[in-house]
Amino acid sequence: MAPIRIDVTSERGTYPVLVGAGLTASPTTTLGSIDLWGHALTTDRLIVSSPAVWKLHGTPWRGVAGKRGPVLIADGEKAKTLGTVSRLYEAFSANHLDRSATIIAIGGGVIGDVAGFAAATFLRGLRVIHVPTTLLAQVDSAIGGKTGVNLTSGKNLVGSFHSPAAVLCDPELLKSLPRREFRAGLYEIIKYGVIAAPDILDTLERDLSAIFDHRAAVLTPLIGKCCEIKARVVMSDEREAGPRRALNFGHTFGHALEAVTKYRRFRHGEAVGYGMLAAARLSVMRGLMTPDEEARLTRIIRSLGPIPVVSDLKSKVVLAAASHDKKVVGGKLHFVAADHLGKTVDIKDVSPEELKIVAKSIGLRT
Ligand code: NAD
Ligand code: MG
Repeated sequence: MAPIRIDVTSERGTYPVLVGAGLTASPTTTLGSIDLWGHALTTDRLIVSSPAVWKLHGTPWRGVAGKRGPVLIADGEKAKTLGTVSRLYEAFSANHLDRSATIIAIGGGVIGDVAGFAAATFLRGLRVIHVPTTLLAQVDSAIGGKTGVNLTSGKNLVGSFHSPAAVLCDPELLKSLPRREFRAGLYEIIKYGVIAAPDILDTLERDLSAIFDHRAAVLTPLIGKCCEIKARVVMSDEREAGPRRALNFGHTFGHALEAVTKYRRFRHGEAVGYGMLAAARLSVMRGLMTPDEEARLTRIIRSLGPIPVVSDLKSKVVLAAASHDKKVVGGKLHFVAADHLGKTVDIKDVSPEELKIVAKSIGLRT
């Protein structure tokens, strides 16, 4: 089957996002078939991946890597630092990369964000191709050009916008993903359903076991649809001034829960799972969503499996963390609410009383 192709227009040009099962089984053919902003893929290319991902999925890329071999860096949130970026700069320099070089980032969101940031800043910008290998990276982080690293004081505080030259999403790569990582990506897929495409929710209700079985007939179009939504949103708002905020549905409480548990308890998607429950409650309180719609969304979120508990976390502490989030604009907490299922509205005047009720509804301790 021909891959799904989504063309994303960015400040730097238009780049293709390809989604297809088996797309990366013969990377040379796939790369040869796409137009990289009018440039052929130069011989000057360097693969960045992690030891774990390279061991699982590196074999077909050996020819592309050539004599240089890949540069392997640790992944996982702890590795998302300026120290890792600096190691990449040294590797780029040791390999005598010039500005015509292409970085190929193969891995999850961490590899994509770190390699993307190193590519964005080395010699003021090298081309980067993303080959996302987690569900979260395929439907979310590889598209849109956001790159960056964490500081000890917070996540993603240093970064830049740097659009890729191409994104290759191969759902076959997800077969080796631990189930919990796979589920973490599914919460973001639910989010796309709520903010833009209720048919995604139908698919999740109908075909969840086929999705967990990685059946390409269901999984490939589902990932394609999410990529299309993310592409559409970022194209309308590349620098995150307005519409891109819809992507933050479920993220105000989600980020707060991650922060108060020091990023150890939840996978990001799991925290967003709770965050979506919170956002749905607020939406019902504001008369934007019906209790039936909230119940349906809750059922879908719960159907993915158990999420770590929140009942030991103090509502006050979580709410304080929420008000430190980046979504505070001019001192007011912005909250993305759902306007039924399939649309969002930005609420700019959420009161502390409402937040307390919402916090209680998801099970936080008073
Ligand atoms: P990750 O990159 O840490 O990967 C999770 C784990 O899965 C790692 O241990 C990795 O080794 C393993 N893994 C990756 N691919 C695998 C495969 N195919 N088979 C088996 N194991 C595999 O985590 P993630 O969830 O992919 O990404 C999270 C990061 O993405 C966060 O740092 C977040 O800030 C970032 N992010 C960025 C954007 C953006 O727009 N740039 C958007 C969302 C999230
Ligand atoms: Mg997210």
